[in-house]
Amino acid sequence: MLLGSHIPTVGGVAKAIDRATGIDCTAMQIFVKNNMQWFANPFLEEEVKSFTQHPLRKKLGVVIAHAGYLINLGTENSENHEKSLRSLGEELLRCDQLDIPYLVLHPGSHLGAGVKNGIRCVVQSLNQIHAEHPKLNVRIALETTAGQGSCLGSRFEELAEILDRAKAPERLRICLDTAHVFAAGYDLSEQDGAEKVFKQFDNIIGLQQLCALHINESKAALGSRVDRHENLGQGKIGLDAFRWIMRSRTLEKIPKILETPKAKDLAEDVAAMKLLRSFKKI
Ligand SMILES: [Zn+2]
Ligand SMILES: [Zn+2]
Repeated sequence: MLLGSHIPTVGGVAKAIDRATGIDCTAMQIFVKNNMQWFANPFLEEEVKSFTQHPLRKKLGVVIAHAGYLINLGTENSENHEKSLRSLGEELLRCDQLDIPYLVLHPGSHLGAGVKNGIRCVVQSLNQIHAEHPKLNVRIALETTAGQGSCLGSRFEELAEILDRAKAPERLRICLDTAHVFAAGYDLSEQDGAEKVFKQFDNIIGLQQLCALHINESKAALGSRVDRHENLGQGKIGLDAFRWIMRSRTLEKIPKILETPKAKDLAEDVAAMKLLRSFKKI
């Protein structure tokens, strides 16, 4: 079972491995640089080595990264587009250095230009990034979003269209966030809700594209388009959906990452993982 959480990298990326394995994660997600800044100093060789050759690295079945929050591939009508491309390119290189296979990215916001224009811009930006970095193994995993503001990717159809129109779709994957899809209107809380939503995902995008799950409860209501994560058992989705996800055979090998609120000691993650593991037992 690949289960873990988003782990802070305070003190260096290698420290995240200590923290994650310290609470028995078998998977983890990290930021490969400050998520609120455009650029970072390149990794030092020792930093890369202490991560890739960390004695506990193999205890983690998979490590994925989440891209910075400033990146927006959804509109070219801003000085930030050029920066976004450079920043994303830098993050992909950093993932490659750390042997990280997936970089989770929010598709972007169209900022008023409309969904159609936004998708065109995302596709073109991804094509450009792929052309500029032909040799990298790391794949961009587009994340399902809550649809806040003009955020793209809150409908499965939008993500399917991006995959469909990209020149190198084999270099893309999808990450599904339970809180985001719920806020976007996919009702995981109703009877058999999770099963129905994943069936829809399979029909529109295809489960073979799914490379990670973000296991988050939602503080915001169904269809509210508000992105507010909550701890399991305290949100609007309810535990049945998470029980179904943990027991699903088709989702068995998909890494499951918590991005729920937590204190420095990660006690909330420990409790949530214990709960999720208990759902496996029937
Ligand atoms: Zn995200
Ligand atoms: Zn997420």
